[in-house]
Amino acid sequence: MEQLKVIIAGAGLSGLCLAQGLRKSGIDCYVYERDAAFDSRTQGYRIRIDETGQKALSSCLSPALYTTFEKSAAQPAGVYTLDTGMQPLTDKWVDQWIMDEREIPADLKADRHTMRKVLIKGIEDYVFFDSDITGYTVLPDNRVKCLFANGDAREADVLVIANGASSSLIAGCFPGTMLRDTGGVCIYGRVALREKQQLLIGDIIRQGTNVIFDGDMAAIIDVMQFDRAYKNAALPEDYIYWALIGKRSSFGLENDQSLRLAPEILGDCVREGTKRFSPKLNPLFAQTEITAMSIVPVRHSVQGKRFSLSPVTVMGDAIHTMSPAAGLGANTALRDAALLTHSLQQAANGNLQLTEAITHYENQMLEYSAAAIAASERGSKLLYNAGE
Ligand SMILES: Cc1cc2nc3c(=O)[nH]c(=O)nc-3n(C[C@H](O)[C@H](O)[C@H](O)COP(=O)(O)OP(=O)(O)OC[C@H]3O[C@@H](n4cnc5c(N)ncnc54)[C@H](O)[C@@H]3O)c2cc1C
Repeated sequence: MEQLKVIIAGAGLSGLCLAQGLRKSGIDCYVYERDAAFDSRTQGYRIRIDETGQKALSSCLSPALYTTFEKSAAQPAGVYTLDTGMQPLTDKWVDQWIMDEREIPADLKADRHTMRKVLIKGIEDYVFFDSDITGYTVLPDNRVKCLFANGDAREADVLVIANGASSSLIAGCFPGTMLRDTGGVCIYGRVALREKQQLLIGDIIRQGTNVIFDGDMAAIIDVMQFDRAYKNAALPEDYIYWALIGKRSSFGLENDQSLRLAPEILGDCVREGTKRFSPKLNPLFAQTEITAMSIVPVRHSVQGKRFSLSPVTVMGDAIHTMSPAAGLGANTALRDAALLTHSLQQAANGNLQLTEAITHYENQMLEYSAAAIAASERGSKLLYNAGE
């Protein structure tokens, strides 16, 4: 085969990580992203990157870029399980959590937007925005032709679908894949760590990840402080990240209610969900701007079966959307990127046929991602009695 050419649909965490890995291996690849520009959505939440995610990133990024990623993450710290009065709980634990930041390797607390900025570094010329891939066809010579919303078409040897949850493209290769709504929702937000919020730390919030249990709802509060001595990346302002995850009823929402909520309703949901919390926490939620809050449904992928061998494959949330409860979605997506890089290298070197390389990747990906979905379901059950 002449030099392998890969098209990636989606410049999210997995798409950019894969592009870094392929470019590092000398494979020709191009990323097409639907958003109009890199900054179109700042999706500003924190992501815990565990050992799996760290290994995947370090295999795809250059050593210098991996250091930039590590140094631009917030200071790691342990997990504390608490009741609504902020007293320690000892009987609640999610397997994936790291108890103590001194455990090696500690989870890294990445700011999603900063992490994407690191992931696009050096490959900017190969990432195209305002490029909505709407479909594809497999050509008689087994190449793939990608079709764009603006009428353009581009050919490649491989198309990697990395366009996140609700993928419009997956039906062609994994028909039957769908999202199961668990009936849970996650509301998340952030507030800049200024003087007033600083007072909460130490008094009521611990430096690490605070997990508050309240029956059918739980809250995660994480202090995000960045190493200002590090000058090699544009770091965000320090902030406190919070997420509330629970059954819709905990937020005063009906089961079939649309989540396109008016700002004041979103504010009401937060007040309803946190009403039993220690009043000392009120300033945290009250000082978060409504524009810095989002609400998403908690959904799990039901994975369909592979249709037939083709030069099209898939990774990340497109094939394994899961509850954020166990912090595994991005870590699993990054693992896909590292494994697929390795498999496509084998095809590029002539060690495997292209379809063999894709099968090799997909067999492993389907197995570990099903386990991750199951683990995140267990996490949801522990956090907010999901499914009961
Ligand atoms: C509040 C919250 C907290 C979370 N915390 C964690 C955590 O701590 N740890 C963890 O591991 N995971 C966490 N996750 C999950 C994690 O964010 C996702 O699993 C991860 O972002 C998936 O990466 P991806 O590359 O598959 O998709 P995405 O990052 O969603 O990227 C998909 C990209 O594809 C683009 N796109 C869509 N359609 C098209 C198209 N037709 N053509 C071109 N481009 C397209 C989208 O615009 C987007 O940029 C969290 C999620 C939420 C909501």
